[in-house]
Amino acid sequence: MSATQILNADLHCHSVVSDGTLTPEALAVRAKANGVELWSLTDHDEISGQSRALAAAHAAGLHYLTGTEISVTFANVTVHIVGLGFDHLDPALHSGLHATRGGRSNRAMEMAEGLAAVGIKGSYEGSLKYVGNPELISRTHFARFLVETGVCKDTPEVFRKYLTDGKPGFVPHRWASLKDAVRWIADAGGIAVIAHPARYRYTPTEEYALFSEFKAHGGRAIEVVTGSHSPAEYVKYADMATEFGFAASRGSDFHSPDESHTDLGSLPPLPGALTPVWALLADRIHYAPAPAAAG
Ligand code: AMP
Ligand code: MN
Ligand code: MN
Ligand code: MN
Repeated sequence: MSATQILNADLHCHSVVSDGTLTPEALAVRAKANGVELWSLTDHDEISGQSRALAAAHAAGLHYLTGTEISVTFANVTVHIVGLGFDHLDPALHSGLHATRGGRSNRAMEMAEGLAAVGIKGSYEGSLKYVGNPELISRTHFARFLVETGVCKDTPEVFRKYLTDGKPGFVPHRWASLKDAVRWIADAGGIAVIAHPARYRYTPTEEYALFSEFKAHGGRAIEVVTGSHSPAEYVKYADMATEFGFAASRGSDFHSPDESHTDLGSLPPLPGALTPVWALLADRIHYAPAPAAAG
């Protein structure tokens, strides 16, 4: 199968290596069962799951692209940049991601102080129970703890009441720069992609600045069809991809069977006229070995 024949690509999801609840192996099996042909595991700020994901993809008969989702601060807003098809042994990418993960533990302790001040005790220790990677404690782990202890009914409620800007458990954080994140990915042979662009609280002018600077730094694609976008937003970002000359990506952003409303492989296809990002990455795809002939 050539890259351009692939329709069901799911190039965004999370495992226990960041804030997902499934292992890379379980995700590969689930992706295959849901009809995915080309898969990428894109853990936040972390690529230590890539070898496992690649092996599991091939065991399940899936083509694989290496992946990650880097946290970036642009114009005082957190933006996520997905990287696809890079060399996962690249030393500069490793050290850049290591530095990006660096402040998470201190941030988490400050988050717990903020929550304690409104009467929610022990949330740092409580959240740690859900953490699969000690370098990657995230807001999602706090959300799971607050749901388990009955403070909120589900994770969206936790974010709304406690973990977003201005709420008691929110701690502003400075992540990687846009320029560095794009450079780490591109220098490792991959393509940088703006994740779920509709999710950022930018004015149209600020959004234009993000897209322009991203392109100037070497960014080449945006997510168009994602679990975070509405059908109207597929159309809006398809038009913006065309306007900026970006390729388009597709990914569920699946985290957990209990929490995610979009399952692996379940999104509609990319709108027709766009260049799929995986067509630009044909020589970076780790193709699944052909199944052994019967008999
Ligand atoms: P962090 O990297 O620690 O800031 O955590 C960011 C993660 O929190 C995202 O990748 C999502 O998995 C999750 N998240 C952010 N906003 C929400 C929300 N409104 N509802 C549920 N999960 C969210
Ligand atoms: Mn996440
Ligand atoms: Mn994201
Ligand atoms: Mn994500």
